[in-house]
Amino acid sequence: MATTDDSINGLTEYCDDCELNTLHEVSVQIRTESVKKENAQFSREPYRVCECQRCGNRSSQRMNNA
Ligand SMILES: [Zn+2]
Repeated sequence: MATTDDSINGLTEYCDDCELNTLHEVSVQIRTESVKKENAQFSREPYRVCECQRCGNRSSQRMNNA
């Protein structure tokens, strides 16, 4: 078993741009969204952001499906 000191939050996922499985750096971003204009409420939604380490393509996906 090989161990790496590299504690990058890497994950192998399919990249649409590369059209193959590549290493992605995964992070979580909190974005503020306005829900409705009427009540002027904001919700803070966590997004999972994946960045392809090969081509730099980023994709984000909402973590809460409310
Ligand atoms: Zn890619």
